[in-house]
Amino acid sequence: MRRKIVAGNWKMNGSKDLAKKLVGHVQSEVGSLDNGVEVVIIPPAIYVNDVAKQSGGDLAVGIQNVGQWQSGAYTGEISADMAKDQGCRYALVGHSERRQLFGESDEVVAAKVERLTSCGLTAVVCVGETLDEREAGQAEAVVARQVKEGLANVAADQWDRIVVAYEPVWAIGTGKTATAEDAQAMHASIRGVLSEIGAPAESISLLYGGSVKADNAAALFAEPDIDGGLIGGASLVAEDFVSICRSV
Ligand code: PGA
Repeated sequence: MRRKIVAGNWKMNGSKDLAKKLVGHVQSEVGSLDNGVEVVIIPPAIYVNDVAKQSGGDLAVGIQNVGQWQSGAYTGEISADMAKDQGCRYALVGHSERRQLFGESDEVVAAKVERLTSCGLTAVVCVGETLDEREAGQAEAVVARQVKEGLANVAADQWDRIVVAYEPVWAIGTGKTATAEDAQAMHASIRGVLSEIGAPAESISLLYGGSVKADNAAALFAEPDIDGGLIGGASLVAEDFVSICRSV
């Protein structure tokens, strides 16, 4: 059985106050979810500890990025071990904003995935095509490359620490969601690529992200290869986020 996961990526938003109020609300509701969903909150790194304290262990906490090195003279970076030390169980890797704004290559993604899995964290590896790539008919090829190269260093016994999030770049923060059918088609294709590279494809959770809202989540999550969601904007509104968690 694959894990069902809904993860809220706060990006560079939030405050101590939001950590208290929003996580408090989600935490009080999550006990009543009987759909087996794992709820993950991924705040800016500086609030990880506030979220972890507030979540009381019912919610998992994640970090949005880690450095590709183990430790040392890398001013401003946070290591996978440090994230673990602060109670994180998940980490995003290769979010399109990091690929586009910070030049994160597939090679860097692979190095970060290796750091995370070797210290026991679950890497949520984000992949997705731009609008130009989709219009040029390259969406599946681009995503296949990102999956293959980003997961190139995963050891045979570490696949249970991998989650893949398909986030078409044109759907992130734009209000344009992929149709459930298009998202399902890409998820099926990703599962095929995972099989090709020798991963246990049927047991790896695949999340969809990109303008998931309370009113479109259920249709996306009903698709057979969509195991949950990576939620940006709607994860900052407690009621919306809880409603998405209920839709899985
Ligand atoms: P969005 O962001 O839900 O605001 O589109 C998703 C993401 O970037 O993870």
